[in-house]
Amino acid sequence: MLERGEVANSWRRERWDSLRLLTPNWQSRLPGYHYEGPDPDGYMTMEEVAGFIERFAALSRAPVRTGVNVTSVRRTDDGYHVTTGRGEIRCRAVVIASGACNRPAVPAFSEAVPADVEQLTPFDYRDPAKLPDGGVLVVGASATGVQLAAELQRSGRPVTLAVGEHTRLPRTYRGRDVLWWMDASGVWGQRYDEIDDLTRARRLPSPQLVGTEERTTLDLNALASAGVELVGRWAAVRDGRALFSGGLRNVFSLADLKLRRLLDTFDEWAGTHGYDAEAGPPERPAPTRVPESARLRLDLRSGEIRAIVWATGFRPDYGWLDVPALDAKGQLGHEGGVVGSPGLYALGLPVLRRRKSSFIYGIEDDAREVIGHLARYLAAGQTPTP
Ligand SMILES: Cc1cc2nc3c(=O)[nH]c(=O)nc-3n(C[C@H](O)[C@H](O)[C@H](O)COP(=O)(O)OP(=O)(O)OC[C@H]3O[C@@H](n4cnc5c(N)ncnc54)[C@H](O)[C@@H]3O)c2cc1C
Repeated sequence: MLERGEVANSWRRERWDSLRLLTPNWQSRLPGYHYEGPDPDGYMTMEEVAGFIERFAALSRAPVRTGVNVTSVRRTDDGYHVTTGRGEIRCRAVVIASGACNRPAVPAFSEAVPADVEQLTPFDYRDPAKLPDGGVLVVGASATGVQLAAELQRSGRPVTLAVGEHTRLPRTYRGRDVLWWMDASGVWGQRYDEIDDLTRARRLPSPQLVGTEERTTLDLNALASAGVELVGRWAAVRDGRALFSGGLRNVFSLADLKLRRLLDTFDEWAGTHGYDAEAGPPERPAPTRVPESARLRLDLRSGEIRAIVWATGFRPDYGWLDVPALDAKGQLGHEGGVVGSPGLYALGLPVLRRRKSSFIYGIEDDAREVIGHLARYLAAGQTPTP
């Protein structure tokens, strides 16, 4: 196992200070190892996650070589040739587990933002004190964007949040964590080959969730009530002005509709599995409130906005992969983690084999199946049937 940094590198180096997992502690489980602390319904801090993964690495005796950066993987007649900062390796099979979130995705028009407005990605952001005083424009209303907008608003800065397509979820539903429902109802376990529009499912934005002791819901209504100004999707920069899409009403009703459908699925599951009596009564959150007049443009030269935080998602980095396995958008082509090039596998990507694939909770089932294929490949000396 080659790791360019240290064990749990992404959790140590690429997250902000206040971040906690949005998945509850009982969902922190890795093969043969799970959370056993006193608070199964709590949410780990980054230090706790790093400790959790470090303990797993030690207990499982994973043969990790840290500080080894892979700079190239290319195919040879009988396998792969791997070049690292610490030498060359030849092997028959390679598992790409380099993560789905190696780089922040920032739109190209960010280059047209006036130079005196500071720009940050979630990789640069640590806490509000590092930002200049004054207004902040947070771009993107998925997990990262809503969490940073809330934290910046609490710090006393005026916050504007640019909202595109998003996934609205309440923190709890009928008395349980919403991710308990995702798991129990089978939604999270839905397999990649049972999903109608897999490409879309793999691109879905992360849910608007935050892990707090109070188990608070952090949707757009909560943010608007806290004083965050909502504007539409940021579409372009013209003459130093940010231009936002109209149609917030449609964006909100789509998210509300998808949420209602999901809650219907949970209720249906509760009904057919005799869980109705135990759970609280079905709930339907109030629709997302549409601002009376959302601004369509904002002058970035006026001094109103002093910093922009790009919470516009993350992408993987395969700059080191010298095997023709990427599509036009730079995404790795694979069938449930089995890449077209024999002996090449992937783990930890969105909806790799199940909806929960890119969460800690999802790795065990995926790893068992992908490594099963790999073991058959090595045993057979050729590509086995999936
Ligand atoms: C902001 C944020 C919050 C998240 N919150 C949650 C959450 O609450 N719950 C949850 O379950 N999941 C969460 N996730 C998803 C989380 O990333 C995954 O669950 C988990 O980290 C995936 O582990 P991984 O090992 O596949 O990828 P990563 O954790 O990204 O690890 C990949 C490793 O590969 C190394 N690497 C990459 N390229 C190379 C190379 N060329 N050579 C050598 N080493 C390399 C990296 O240094 C890194 O350590 C979150 C993700 C982000 C970005």
